[in-house]
Amino acid sequence: MKHIPLSVPNLKGREGDLVGTAVADEWVSTAGPYVKDFEKAVAAYVGTADAVACQSGTAGLHLACMEAGISTGDLVLVADLTFFATVNPIRYCGADPIFIDCDDTLCMDPDKLREFCENECELRDGVLYEKASGRRIPAVMPVHVFGNLCDMESIMDIAGEFGLSVIEDAAEALGSFWTAGRYAGKAAGTVGDFGVYSFNGNKIVTTGGGGMVVAQKLSSMDHMRYVSQQSKDDALRFIHGEVGYNYRLTNLQAALGIAQMEELDGFRKIKKRNYDIYREEGLNLLPFREGVDPNYWFYSLMTGGKVEEVMAALKERGIDSRPIWQLMHRLKPYAECRAYRIERAVYYHSNVLNIPCSTNLTEEDVRYVAGVIREILAEV
Ligand SMILES: *Cc1c(COP(=O)(O)O)cnc(C)c1O
Repeated sequence: MKHIPLSVPNLKGREGDLVGTAVADEWVSTAGPYVKDFEKAVAAYVGTADAVACQSGTAGLHLACMEAGISTGDLVLVADLTFFATVNPIRYCGADPIFIDCDDTLCMDPDKLREFCENECELRDGVLYEKASGRRIPAVMPVHVFGNLCDMESIMDIAGEFGLSVIEDAAEALGSFWTAGRYAGKAAGTVGDFGVYSFNGNKIVTTGGGGMVVAQKLSSMDHMRYVSQQSKDDALRFIHGEVGYNYRLTNLQAALGIAQMEELDGFRKIKKRNYDIYREEGLNLLPFREGVDPNYWFYSLMTGGKVEEVMAALKERGIDSRPIWQLMHRLKPYAECRAYRIERAVYYHSNVLNIPCSTNLTEEDVRYVAGVIREILAEV
């Protein structure tokens, strides 16, 4: 029986050559030349002046949260339907999340975000406070779920009105662009004050593990790079200007990243082709937002409430799939936090199954998986 994984790396370009060069040159640590080159490649691709490479998307989100000034006692508005790693950096900064529902694109619902800011908060001297607790709300963290893009026009308008910094979790959305509206031509992560990408093993571009942060302000990127390298003022004499972090990406990882960036547009084409085949084969996959050219990172199969049954039947046939994430407000570390009118997220959580989407899949593989899913859906 053929095993079909969910989402695995595709390393058939120059990955081996460049990693080999890094090893041959004995530049494996953060000091090697590929790290800067990788930063430049990502910045050029997304159209920013600079980018800061770090050890993971999680580390990147932490750097962005610190740079946005999130601190002890604050509250941060964040998507309820997301991966755990979006939310934890809020806590690393001593703050707590407030969870906001999604819309039908699985991304943060701007209507509910506005409703919360208008009804549950008050603005004093340009700073937003939650009425119930009196706690400050300095930022909002929308997530571009599965490579789809949030309604950033609405979110940016709300952020502007209520004095919020915007940290885009674009971990899954490298290679997604707006094609219409105010942000036409812009890349995911480059609209808010900060944008964060992940290069974890299952992302569209992988360095094994890694991340990248971009920001509107060059000075913010310089500062995040500084604290990501132990805040060194004088490396020889061990003078450190503030609390530092060991978050810099290594040269070995960056070597992989450079080669992967060369493949990104090819990966996007395959992901789109496979998505189109699944749809053509009659599967009910959620569409991506209009006015967007997405990277088609993950596909969301609507199962009619049969997530567990379909997943189990696929497993028996050697095909991997996964349910959408557990909702953040239901997880133990965040069960005490405020969740505002969560409705759509509950619905999608019990309906969506992610199905195989690797760029290694052939057209034949995709048709085979689609056929098996059709059979299973007819039975459950
Ligand atoms: C992968 C991911 C992260 C975390 O990235 P890591 O590189 O694994 O730390 C954060 N948010 C979302 C939405 C992700 O998918």
